[in-house]
Formats: sequence, structure tokens, C-alpha cells
Amino acid sequence: MNIDHANALRILSDLIAIPTVNPMGHPYHGDHPVERDALNYIQNLFSPYEIDTRRSQCSPIHESLILTVPGECNEAITLLESHVDTVPAEDWLARAFQPRLDGHRVFGRGACDDKGCLTAMILAMLAILESGRKPPLQVVLLAAGDEELNQLGIKEFVSANPPLARAIVGEPTQCLPVLQHKGTIRWDIVITGRSAHSAQPELGIDAIQGAWHVCQALKEYQTKLRAQHHSPFMTGPTLSVTAIRGGRTRNAIADDCVLSVDFRIIPGMHPSQARDTLAAHLELLRRDDSTPLGRLGVGIHHREPQIATPALQTAPEDPFSQIVLKECREFLNRPELEFIAAPYCTDAAWVSDRCPTLVLGPGSIAQAHAVDEWIDLDEVVQCAKLYQRIVMTQP
Ligand SMILES: [Zn+2]
Repeated sequence: MNIDHANALRILSDLIAIPTVNPMGHPYHGDHPVERDALNYIQNLFSPYEIDTRRSQCSPIHESLILTVPGECNEAITLLESHVDTVPAEDWLARAFQPRLDGHRVFGRGACDDKGCLTAMILAMLAILESGRKPPLQVVLLAAGDEELNQLGIKEFVSANPPLARAIVGEPTQCLPVLQHKGTIRWDIVITGRSAHSAQPELGIDAIQGAWHVCQALKEYQTKLRAQHHSPFMTGPTLSVTAIRGGRTRNAIADDCVLSVDFRIIPGMHPSQARDTLAAHLELLRRDDSTPLGRLGVGIHHREPQIATPALQTAPEDPFSQIVLKECREFLNRPELEFIAAPYCTDAAWVSDRCPTLVLGPGSIAQAHAVDEWIDLDEVVQCAKLYQRIVMTQP
């Protein structure tokens, strides 16, 4: 199959028309895994070729597809990975799964995140198979499940210890090579107090007031962290409270208040260490009578993280980084092009401790997760050719 506009449009449109919405932790009512219909479709595209095809069920509702193209050397793998699941599309449901071409743009849920990248990788693999030329290393295409919530697909894949030599994770980077991005830890901090009639608040311990002091402390801690940790490629670590729930009735002092925290770490920081150090800092403040938090007498405890993803930190001087940079510069005819970093988190975080890993794909993150998500078809075609070139390079 040729890497051209007609094939890119057909595959991308077909993938958009198969909803693969991640329930994002809410109850799921489907009778088979979220990704299965799309994976059946992809597997069918490869049916003319005799290649190794495997399904991997990473949870009761999520599934991945692993396609292996043999190389000159089969002891080591070039991994191409894109995710199949998408975020929901409740606010534009009527048109989200009806792919539409307008000029060069293809619209639909997942067009940009991440079915454009997936289409480009599929086209690259099909073109290699069609050409009959063997890539230097075995190539594995992982169409991964559940990236949007828990990144279970990629975690399950790497847990089997495949002999990875190098990896490209497809996410919308406008075809620019991303070699570092932040990591994410999300968890709930529970502040506990003591309830009392609100006519006599002095008899209670106000958990909401405690939460207010914790919010203040987190902002101050962020300033401290930013003085300690920086990267030439990205802004410093961030700590955001993204949800707050507390209190039981209007006329009682709240005895608990829960803060949902989103902590973005940069390369050089370790997720669980960063969280533990923060927790120890809050505990010190809580025990210190000279601080407003200490004087209040609330309890603080930390729930298990919903997610704890490391930062991506591939070295620019790594030979694979240099190969990708060179290919991007030459193929895109942009000799001035440089590595970039991203503030968001991807599946690449789970691979980069095993092999040099870069994030690279068509489309812009500005369109991801948005209403009327779109991608430029030219970029999908261009990136498919770029993937093919990278896979065919000698390690
Ligand atoms: Zn994505």
C-alpha cells in the first residue's frame, strides 16, 4: 500500500468512525473492550501479509494490538507506538464520529489524538511490507489501549521485557522530535478535622480551613521546587489543586475536605520520591505550632496515587536522538529544526528507561481533546514517510 493522501484519508476516516472512547474511570457499558473494533480493523489491514499478530488485554475493558514485522536482526526491536483510545466527545456527539474532510483537514474525535499518528504508523508499516525490504531491526507496532486514563496498554507491553533498542511514540508534535516531557502524579490529599455546630465553630476543627492552608503551602512549595529543579527544555515543576470537595451540611463545621492534586515533575525528579518529599513537608508544617496549619490541629493523609508517570528524559546526544533529528531536518527540509520538550505526559515515559525514546507525530496538541478536533492530512502523509525512513535507518 502506498503512502498517499487517498490511503491516509481512508484509514483515518475508518478509524474515526469506530468510536474508542475511554470511559475515563466511569462505568463502562460495552460488551467488549473499548478498542476491540478498531483493533479488528487494523489487524484486517495487515491480513495480506504473514506477520506475527498478538492481542493483549491490559484490563477487563482495554485491549492492545501488537504487530511484528521481521527485520535483518530480530534480537532487538524498533518500537512504533500510538494509542487507540480517545477522550469522550459528549459536547459534540452528533458529529464526532462522522469523519469529515474540509480542505486538507480531517475532522472527528481522535483525528489528532491519536488516530492521525496511528494512521501514519500503519501506513509506514504497510509500505515497508509492500516494498519487501527488511528493516535493520524487527519493528513492532503497538496500537495501545487505555492511554488516556491509566496508560495500561504500554505498561502491560513493557512488563514483558521486550528487547527494545529504540522507540517512537506517536503523539501530535507537529512532526517535531520531542525528547523530554514532564511526568505526572495525581492523588487526593484528605484533610480531617472535627465537626461542631456552626454556631460554636470554636468547638470544631475546620477541615476546609485546613485545606485552604494546604493549598497555600502547595503554592509556596512549588516556588521552592522551581528554584531547585530546572531544565533547559521546559518550565519548572508545577503543583495544582484541580478539585476540592468538603463539608457535610450548611450548619456544621466540616470534618473532612479532599483536595485532588496534579503534580507535574521534570526530568531528574522521581514520581514517588517527589510525592513522598512533598508529603513529609506538609507533615512538618502540620506538626509545627508556629504555622497556621500546625495551630489548626487538622489531620492530613494521602490516598494512593491515581497515576504516577515518570518524566521522559532521552539524551539529545544519544545516537537514536541524533538519527531522528537528522531525518526530521533532511526530510522536512528544515535544517534549523531542533529538539523540543513538551509540558504534557505520554506513554513514552514508560519506555524511556529501557531504550532511547522520542515522541513524534503529525498534528498539534492544541487540537487534542478539543471540540471539532482535526488534523492536516498532508502532515499525516508526511509523517508516515518520516516514520518509514526512521525505521529503515541502521541503529
Ligand atoms: Zn494522545
